[in-house]
Amino acid sequence: MNFDYDLFVIGAGSGGVRASRIASGFGAKVAVAEEYKVGGTCVIRGCVPKKLLVYASHFAEDFEAAKGFGWSVGETNFDWETLIDAKNKEIERLNGLYIQTLSNAGVEIINGRAVVTGPNSVRVGEREITAKYILVATGGWPDMPHIPGIEHAMTSNEALEMRSLPDHVVVVGGGYIAVEFAGIFRGLGAKVTQLYRGEQILRGFDDDLRHRLADEMRKKGINLMTEVNVEKIEKTDTGVRLTLTDDSVLEAGAVFYATGRKPKTAGLGLEEAGVALDEKGAVMVDAYGKTSVDSIYAVGDVTDRIQLTPVAIKEGHAFALTLFGNAPTSPEHDAVPSAVFSQPPIGTVGMTESEARARVGDVSVFVSDFRPMKHTLGGSSERAFTKLIVDKKTDKVLGAHMIGADAAEIIQGVGIAVKAGLTKAQFDATVAVHPSSAEEFVLMRTPRS
Ligand code: NDP
Repeated sequence: MNFDYDLFVIGAGSGGVRASRIASGFGAKVAVAEEYKVGGTCVIRGCVPKKLLVYASHFAEDFEAAKGFGWSVGETNFDWETLIDAKNKEIERLNGLYIQTLSNAGVEIINGRAVVTGPNSVRVGEREITAKYILVATGGWPDMPHIPGIEHAMTSNEALEMRSLPDHVVVVGGGYIAVEFAGIFRGLGAKVTQLYRGEQILRGFDDDLRHRLADEMRKKGINLMTEVNVEKIEKTDTGVRLTLTDDSVLEAGAVFYATGRKPKTAGLGLEEAGVALDEKGAVMVDAYGKTSVDSIYAVGDVTDRIQLTPVAIKEGHAFALTLFGNAPTSPEHDAVPSAVFSQPPIGTVGMTESEARARVGDVSVFVSDFRPMKHTLGGSSERAFTKLIVDKKTDKVLGAHMIGADAAEIIQGVGIAVKAGLTKAQFDATVAVHPSSAEEFVLMRTPRS
């Protein structure tokens, strides 16, 4: 049978763009449909704009620290609108680069929403298109609980576009996005209250880091409240009024929800085409990204495995190698390093201590708790913390964790060692880079337990 395309990709985000480009490079005729902007969540309204805002929010502390190094800092002033305009300009530039990259690779971009109409067909607007393979790479979307007044809440989508910074923001959630935005709003001068329903933020991360981050956030003035949730939201003249589960009432300029993201599969025609979804609506795939329909594959957040851009990129690349590069490749999902751009940031790879104790049993734990050199003159009381989890039997480093300045930059290198399965002895044999914070990873000698 003749198809219009060898590959039709739905969604030009991290996974979809990589898969399209690589498949096209192998000679496939490829089209990608995008209903919003080429680049996807990470580039347009996720990692990239968020990180720009994180940079912006550090300056207040940097101006303070500068004084300790002999600088006189004059009056400073921050303008949210200027920041958002500058951010938007940069995102437009990146959007253009992504379009260019796809065009250069010979991929056709179709602006519009694609709906799957069968194992080898999609519809975009009025147009019926056939393809030998379909790749679903539609990503995810903020998921908010259905409580009264939830329509008055914003998510990261709106926060990145708002025209002014509210004087007081209530952040709901205790995951990546919640802690990152709490830090951004606070650093840029807003009063911040963060509400988390559980006992401690960042569930799933190493406990030492969770406690440390909570302490540091409180030290920076974030009012972090745990074991509490929002029952209802009402609009007021100045913002919102929240009624909490402990019956208290909180007034603020805005409420920001970061309560997880759900796979974007609604109305895509997948179930009708025979593609199995799980109870959260995620596309279920095998190790190669294949769905329950042989000609339909999926990569990235829509599969709800690990919601990280570099993982989606790996999955997209592996998909293209498998189907068009004659090299069946199943993306690996173990020892995936990640960072939380909280303040201070977190870098982590491999098992947490509790996970290692549960899965491996006999482990040694090495920790280092120190004051980064910059803060000695800078005056900040912020501390840094590094941790290694080691398998006592094999001496293999099972997990590495850090909270402190530059943790994201540092963990990438450590991630190679953990992914490679290196031993603690090999870490110890590595010469330290001095003076640095990273050197702690090769200097910890006495186990805490
Ligand atoms: P997360 O899953 O990380 O966190 C969701 C948070 O919301 C949890 O604290 C959760 O609590 C809480 N929550 C869930 N439902 C409710 C509810 N009904 N009421 C109150 N609280 C609730 O999701 P995020 O939205 O923060 O981020 C989505 C994903 O995006 C992340 O998993 C991450 O993979 C990715 N991401 C990565 C970043 C990075 O790499 N730096 C940055 C931003 C996002 P509980 O713990 O009790 O379930």
